Amino acid sequence: MTTNFTLPRPLRRAGSLASTRTVRIVILGQAAVGKTALTVRFITKRFIGEYDPTLETIYRHELSVGGEVVRFEILDTAGQEEDALLIEEKIKWGDGFVIVYSVTDRCSFDEVMRLCFLVNHVHAASRRSSMEPPPVVIVGNKKDLEFDRMVTTEDGENLSKGLKLRFREISAREGCEETAEVFHALYRDVLQLLSCSPTSFRRRAVSKLMEKIPRIHSTSTSSSTLGPSGRSFSFSSFRDLPQD
Ligand code: GDP
Ligand code: MG
Repeated sequence: MTTNFTLPRPLRRAGSLASTRTVRIVILGQAAVGKTALTVRFITKRFIGEYDPTLETIYRHELSVGGEVVRFEILDTAGQEEDALLIEEKIKWGDGFVIVYSVTDRCSFDEVMRLCFLVNHVHAASRRSSMEPPPVVIVGNKKDLEFDRMVTTEDGENLSKGLKLRFREISAREGCEETAEVFHALYRDVLQLLSCSPTSFRRRAVSKLMEKIPRIHSTSTSSSTLGPSGRSFSFSSFRDLPQD
């Protein structure tokens, strides 16, 4: 599907970069914080309730921005117990990052700092060392579960201020717009970084590890995968929860 929303016109990319219109976003965070829910909410505008928590997917989603098509590639990560090499490959792949915790889970909040450090460390150690740190949005999800809250809004704000990162508190379950705004803000930050440091978008060869991750293309309504792994999904295979 192609969604329209209003954003400043993308900055022109120089020379050989002109054809690049893809922004890669990696969703990180502990298990069960709502990474898949928020990703699928952004892409389909629906709240998906239950599905395989081990599912790891790259979603391709195209948006018309100022008359130009921008392709989001969103890596919705799954296992947080994976080996260091694999997580590093995923972080190297990304242009921008959404680091998610659940406001109902203190442990997931404590993990945010480590993930932020990891993202900065991996990017600084890679060939992108000369550039600014990559854009990151810290997201406190499940704010609808007020009675189960263990992390205050102020906790999230203070952490983000300390790390000089954007912060949003959202409910993937209840809010479509606020979920989309996370991705829009990140997109703007990526464009901003691009204008300061165009070389940051020179793509390196994608590792074999990344090629194994199944892909879902959502430019058509019958979104089906074209992943080289041969696995196939469709959004209709997820079970929708009734909307409140
Ligand atoms: P992931 O492991 O980080 O991908 O987490 P999931 O997206 O699988 O979500 C884990 C569980 O939390 C599922 O049962 C979701 O229905 C639920 N969930 C996700 N986001 C929200 C939210 O904003 N509010 C509520 N109440 N539940 C949510
Ligand atoms: Mg998931």
